[in-house]
Amino acid sequence: MTALYHPSLYDTRQPIESYWAASAGPWDTTGFAPLEGDAEAEVAIIGGGYTGLTAAYHLARRHGVQARVLEAAPIGWGASGRNGGFCCLGSVWLSLDALVRRFGEAEAARCVGAMREAVELVRDLATEEGIALDAQGQGTITVAHRLSRLRHLEEEAHALARLGAGATAIWSKEELAERGYSSPEAFGAMHQSVGFGLHPLKYCRGLADAALRRGAVIHGESPVIAWRREGPRHVLQTPRGTVTARRVLIATNGFTRDELHKALDGCLLPALSNIVVTRPLSDSELAAQGVTTEMPTSDTRGLLFYVRLLPDRRFMFGARGGLDASPESSSLQRAFLERRLREMYPAWRDVETTHFWRGPVCLSAAFTPHIARLDEAGTVTCALAYHGSGVAMSGWAGRAAAALTLGVDGAEAAIPAPLATMPRRWPVARFRLFWLRLAYLGFRLKDELF
Ligand SMILES: Cc1cc2nc3c(=O)[nH]c(=O)nc-3n(C[C@H](O)[C@H](O)[C@H](O)COP(=O)(O)OP(=O)(O)OC[C@H]3O[C@@H](n4cnc5c(N)ncnc54)[C@H](O)[C@@H]3O)c2cc1C
Repeated sequence: MTALYHPSLYDTRQPIESYWAASAGPWDTTGFAPLEGDAEAEVAIIGGGYTGLTAAYHLARRHGVQARVLEAAPIGWGASGRNGGFCCLGSVWLSLDALVRRFGEAEAARCVGAMREAVELVRDLATEEGIALDAQGQGTITVAHRLSRLRHLEEEAHALARLGAGATAIWSKEELAERGYSSPEAFGAMHQSVGFGLHPLKYCRGLADAALRRGAVIHGESPVIAWRREGPRHVLQTPRGTVTARRVLIATNGFTRDELHKALDGCLLPALSNIVVTRPLSDSELAAQGVTTEMPTSDTRGLLFYVRLLPDRRFMFGARGGLDASPESSSLQRAFLERRLREMYPAWRDVETTHFWRGPVCLSAAFTPHIARLDEAGTVTCALAYHGSGVAMSGWAGRAAAALTLGVDGAEAAIPAPLATMPRRWPVARFRLFWLRLAYLGFRLKDELF
């Protein structure tokens, strides 16, 4: 996978110039020094985003095990520090019908139950650990970008209710406008009561602080560059040290290299997600466009747009898509986002954007996350592939993976089947980006025509 995208996407020395980085405030990083020398651990965790940090937190807190987290970059550099902050149901990239067809009604309902619990876990952990999330909005909104998609949303609302996803409501275009969202590309919406918006970097840093307080050891700027076995033990090599561990959890999501572990080779496909943020908008500008809701809002496109009105009245506008992660392509991607922002919110056609950034979300060939054991002995596990909806699910997965990694009784059975599949290779894995290009073309056509 090393060559799937431009190397700059993986360059951990490049700071992410996100609005979150600009607004998170100062943070004491002294507890997250790089690994120096040789160390031992019962559990080593590769990747220090939400998944790795929550796993480390629960290992310490629930199981009394001190884990050692190895994070390639400064903490918060990965997707966990730069996402859109939608803390909502999700992580499976299948329709609910397909989920039921593939896994059966009971397992699909357990999966939706886990998604719902995942949202509450974020809130509860933040309350308990005193993490300032800057939470916003009661629920989330999915906007029908064409009238025909409103019927799909009605069907989805029924399926969600049947599977136990919490209350949903369908709003007409007028009802949506009354609730604070108007756009020429909005024809009604589904409201889901479960979900809210948060400041992703503050959440990530808060998790790291909490895990540290509970006893985890966390090393920033410590990429695992080699992995060998010494008898039953795993030896993870970083530029300036090694960790020898009995068990290893892989929590590298969209940054996973094919060569990291053979069970993941060719199984994951990162896809780019891109965000711009505007300057703060005045009350009259918000009123002119008719956008005042603080609920995280996305639309029904396959290549979806996702937006939020942030606490300081800036507007965040995000979009999936793009296959070129080179620095030269940034200005094109930014221009595309700005053009679509103007088209979807014409009253803001002269409003400038102040921040642009992007990062990889992680798709799997099964279109489901993998919280799974990767070797027969059960000493290597993974928790990854949230399909662009991992803010909430990564915490649930981190907790489940902590128990799975230790081999706790019942840990495997506690994971709903759709979340517990084994990774499998993409067909002709070398051409993954080509499949993605085809998928984007298909989505674009469908989004415009149906
Ligand atoms: C632009 C963008 C917008 C998004 N918006 C949303 C949203 O609004 N809502 C939502 O639910 N989800 C969203 N997501 C997805 C969400 O951010 C992720 O699902 C979630 O952060 C996954 O957390 P993680 O800890 O598994 O992965 P990450 O936070 O990516 O952490 C993985 C870490 O592994 C590290 N790593 C990789 N290889 C190695 C190695 N060899 N050694 C050591 N460390 C290594 C990386 O440096 C990285 O920090 C978005 C993602 C992006 C990029």
